[in-house]
Amino acid sequence: CRVIRQATGAEAGIVTSGASAAVMLGAAACLAGLDPGRMNLLPDVPDGRREFVVVRSQRNMYDRALVVAGGRIVEVGIPDRFSGPGVRDAGVWEIEDAIGKDTAGVYYLAVKQSRPGLREVAAAAHRHGVPVLVDAAAQLPPAENLRRILGDGADLVCFSGGKAIGGPQSSGILCGRADLVASALLQML
Ligand SMILES: *Cc1c(COP(=O)(O)O)cnc(C)c1O
Repeated sequence: CRVIRQATGAEAGIVTSGASAAVMLGAAACLAGLDPGRMNLLPDVPDGRREFVVVRSQRNMYDRALVVAGGRIVEVGIPDRFSGPGVRDAGVWEIEDAIGKDTAGVYYLAVKQSRPGLREVAAAAHRHGVPVLVDAAAQLPPAENLRRILGDGADLVCFSGGKAIGGPQSSGILCGRADLVASALLQML
């Protein structure tokens, strides 16, 4: 935790068995917080608060880690830049419209082409008291991303240890808000 704090500026961090595991544990933290009753029930939740808002163009094969933890993906936006007939993707207002009483978090895939920007997305999520879980598995190098993504407002960030960090495959980092990292750590047990 101390080493990850120094490297990232995060309040706390843990080593996970890969970025995928970090996303799963991060999702579990968003779903359960520090409530042992909610932790015990996962992948069920006692109420409907299990939704992760995801921009449709950021969907990827790793986002099932949200579902493994017990989350449900709520897609927003139309990536018609890719399909051709339009020039849009998703607006911050669409993310905000999708946030409601059942929202556990906003999932954000940190890649160069991700829209809207993380700073705006995080500000919108925080207006509604919802955490942002960022999958930045492959965003190293540059090393400055260790700090930038948290600086842009992410509550939890996932990095892969098996990619450019050059650690063993199936190693990773989950870092961010201390209460959420504490929840993830408890749920690792
Ligand atoms: C590579 C990758 C992962 C998985 O990383 P592991 O450390 O192998 O678990 C997850 N998400 C994204 C976006 C990735 O590129």
